[in-house]
Amino acid sequence: MATPIFQTSTFSFGTAAEGARRFAGEEEGYIYTRLGNPTVRALEDRIAVLEGGERGLAFASGMAAVSAVLIALTKTGDHVLCSNGLYGCTYGLLQMFEEKYKITHDFSFMATEEDVRNGITEKTRCIFIETPINPTMKMIDLSMVARVAKEYGIPVVVDNTFCTPYLQRPLDLGCDIVLHSATKYIGGHGDVIAGLVVGEKAFMDDLAMSQQKDIGGILSPFDAWLLLRGLKTLHVRMDRHSSNADEIARKLKEHPKIKHIYYPGMKEHEHHSIVRKQMRTGGGVLAFELEGSKEEAQQFMDRLRLIQIAVSLGDAETLIQHPATMTHAVVPEEKRREMGIGDSLIRLSVGLEALDDIWGDLVYALNEV
Ligand SMILES: *Cc1c(COP(=O)(O)O)cnc(C)c1O
Repeated sequence: MATPIFQTSTFSFGTAAEGARRFAGEEEGYIYTRLGNPTVRALEDRIAVLEGGERGLAFASGMAAVSAVLIALTKTGDHVLCSNGLYGCTYGLLQMFEEKYKITHDFSFMATEEDVRNGITEKTRCIFIETPINPTMKMIDLSMVARVAKEYGIPVVVDNTFCTPYLQRPLDLGCDIVLHSATKYIGGHGDVIAGLVVGEKAFMDDLAMSQQKDIGGILSPFDAWLLLRGLKTLHVRMDRHSSNADEIARKLKEHPKIKHIYYPGMKEHEHHSIVRKQMRTGGGVLAFELEGSKEEAQQFMDRLRLIQIAVSLGDAETLIQHPATMTHAVVPEEKRREMGIGDSLIRLSVGLEALDDIWGDLVYALNEV
């Protein structure tokens, strides 16, 4: 029942002629693990089915997946239109693209069709979206953006890390490429760094040749095996993460020391109608603003006893972090404020623990500050 781990770098050919046929592409078969490995292939096939795409590819990290897709879609002089809020390192990568390759980018809320059209230029070669946007949980209507992008023939890439295919399937909504930091919910146990990409066959074949074969950020067979194991319980875990997060969000909202709460599953969420349209549940991540200063936010975190102070999300354990000084510290302060990341904003990745244990820890720490 478990996929074997093919822990091998290379594969021997029966004859010289067989090796020649495989290199010529005349015969299916493995050659060398950077070009394909049975354990990794099993994972790639499975994520393709889950996302409803033609082909999947696995990478060494979420950032290897993000960079592979962006390198494949752009060249010098091109432009990328992004959601107004991105994973910190994706933001950093785009900065590097601009400095080294003159590939420019702009941010957009993509709140309306007009908004999307206004963001597109003659040079736009890719629309890159995170939804919900980390960490403020703003949403983008994927089918609306996909509809507009189609008119211009621009591919829409969605970083689906926060949702996984269990909560949101961007390809079904008309988007073209979906990618993941599988480090998060897909692995689900905080013990592997990995990335996944799914899209149509022609693009994915090109990605395999240009990004995996020649750039080389591939996933190891053992890490692929960990993700195959994680996928078996994805739906059960996502339901529990979501129900725990939903309850915590409701309880935090009533607490006098909480100024604002951002959780897609709440009716009060500014984009709740989009959430209902494209997500199964509100997911397992929420953010909240504490009444008080940065120092008080830090004091609150230091008082927690069960919840661990750590970046990342989607682990079995509840993790808490301070975006302004951690995940989004690389974003200049002005841009950070524009993204809605204030000094007292805190992000919580709600784990699988008993709800009372998580809530008890939060209340204790809140009462201590
Ligand atoms: C973590 C994360 C990434 C980067 O993934 P790594 O596996 O850490 O390289 C990209 N996008 C989002 C939304 C993430 O949360």
